[in-house]
Amino acid sequence: MQVLGEAEILALWERGLARHPIDRGLLLYAWARPDLPSSSFPDLPLGAINRALLRLREICFGPRIIACIDCEHCGTRMEVALDTGQLLAGINEVDTPAEFEVSSLRFRVPCSRDLAAVSGELDINAAAVKLLERCCLDRPEKMDAGFANILAEAEAAMENLDPAAEINLSVSCEDCGHSWLADFNIGTLLWDEIDVRARALIAEVHSLAQAYGWTEPEIFALSPQRRAAYLDMVGV
Ligand SMILES: [Zn+2]
Repeated sequence: MQVLGEAEILALWERGLARHPIDRGLLLYAWARPDLPSSSFPDLPLGAINRALLRLREICFGPRIIACIDCEHCGTRMEVALDTGQLLAGINEVDTPAEFEVSSLRFRVPCSRDLAAVSGELDINAAAVKLLERCCLDRPEKMDAGFANILAEAEAAMENLDPAAEINLSVSCEDCGHSWLADFNIGTLLWDEIDVRARALIAEVHSLAQAYGWTEPEIFALSPQRRAAYLDMVGV
């Protein structure tokens, strides 16, 4: 896996800016896995994408993550320190669609294509049932109980087969004492970091181009020390 250089960060940012968060995750995955055909990405288990993005994050910005989480009870913002190594530890490698059986029906674990298909559904439970229906490999002519009744069992099987698909953090609010499982999305976090970095780079290029007339490639070719010195000279 290659480190993202400054020019690559800007190029990825430019391509991902107008995309849906699911597509941004796949865009970042394409950078992380240039050895795989991009046409297969939407069908990969979600955990495979998340694991690759955690590794990409580690290579580009280091293993330490400070995640900002708002208490779901009182709204207090907390900073939670995470480590990519700890998040990756003990997670099964599932790169091929894994299958399981519940109530004599076969299912596969969800992929990005499934998430995109249910992303317009506002009701979380309805979205989960739709997702399960999509992941059913059998087509029952009639389901008396419906997919809703086997949802909990199926979700447990999915989590067991592809634990990195949904990363939950056990957090406790320091203000009100409320404890809950917070959803941690590495794709969103990594995109936000790339967005911050890209906008900072554009501001640096803008200042130096304005002062010295240099082009973007010329500015990127400067060593970090020289660039910082010139930015100091122009008062940034
Ligand atoms: Zn709270």
